[in-house]
Amino acid sequence: MATAFRDIQPGEFEPTEAHPQHGVIIGGPAARAKRIEYGILLSSMVIGSLGALYWTLTHATGWVEWSAFLFGYILINMGVGIGYHRFYTHRAFEAGPKMRLAIGIMAQMACQASVLKWAADHRRHHAFSDRVGDLHSPYIDGHGKKMSKWKGLGIAHFGWLFDNTTSDMNVYGKGLIDDPQVLWCHRHRWSIAVFSSIIFPALWALAFGGPEHIIGTILIGGFFRNFFFLNFVMGVNSIGHVFGSQRFKTKDGSRNNWFMAWMTFGDGWHNNHHQHPRSAYAGLMWWEVDVNGYIISLWEKMGLVWNVQRAPKYVRDSDGNWVQKKKLNVQSPEAMSEDDGGLMFADGKKTAETKATADAG
Ligand SMILES: [Zn+2]
Ligand SMILES: [Zn+2]
Repeated sequence: MATAFRDIQPGEFEPTEAHPQHGVIIGGPAARAKRIEYGILLSSMVIGSLGALYWTLTHATGWVEWSAFLFGYILINMGVGIGYHRFYTHRAFEAGPKMRLAIGIMAQMACQASVLKWAADHRRHHAFSDRVGDLHSPYIDGHGKKMSKWKGLGIAHFGWLFDNTTSDMNVYGKGLIDDPQVLWCHRHRWSIAVFSSIIFPALWALAFGGPEHIIGTILIGGFFRNFFFLNFVMGVNSIGHVFGSQRFKTKDGSRNNWFMAWMTFGDGWHNNHHQHPRSAYAGLMWWEVDVNGYIISLWEKMGLVWNVQRAPKYVRDSDGNWVQKKKLNVQSPEAMSEDDGGLMFADGKKTAETKATADAG
């Protein structure tokens, strides 16, 4: 596809306005391409979900359609949590080329853009979390303006997909834009989306039901499955930065929210995650269910992945504060090099500058 690389070509990154933060583009072809791509993805999910509702009310649907939904939900939940998020964004472990490709395809089956785009956007979220430069904060919009609570929740959930700002891939895509598996996934993002939403559910219907189940399984087990799950992924950005508990006093609004964690296979332990972004485990206590973390452990035992990053263990001290069981240098497992988009872990000076800009705005 001729336009497949438009959003990673340096020439496309000409902004029409300056943004206070490095690596954030306002306007220009890259921001327009972002709105078009997210618009196609989201509107197909919404229209397909309305179709699923109509089909459920007017046709006999049953285990064929809903087993496709459940199987696909598990697959894309693993893909997003392990693939887009813990592996491609945060480098929580290492894997060989075949595994990296499989993880990338599994992630893109959720139809939330290419691993390159998702990871670059999410690195920017960590670089500026709830400050000027964050792309989906419930507190501040893409241009750095403060928002009221309800508007903020809406912008952090879906609104940010359609603003005229985007992430500079040259800054946040480091270590990804020259990775052959990442580029393969990026180039094939539309065919993977069509396979996941239409072809896979159709084959499922033929294998377990018959031709009369094809349309219902595509609508329920394809488009509605994507839309239903998307709300939980976006919910971590919106609800997960407003509602829930904070074990760690991070410089953002991130929260641990058990319901979001159950629905996202662990990523809803979002305050833990902001404290230890590189950890392959978002659940830090035994009761913090983290299905994707268990899967990574299983893959590690099977030898499929290695060098798995772990957060230090925490216990409560006599004052009720959470402290590291054995005092570790927590920075060391967190740091990513500049070449890996390491700007996400800005030093104290950068953070102070960002905060000053946020306060001024
Ligand atoms: Zn966050
Ligand atoms: Zn993250």
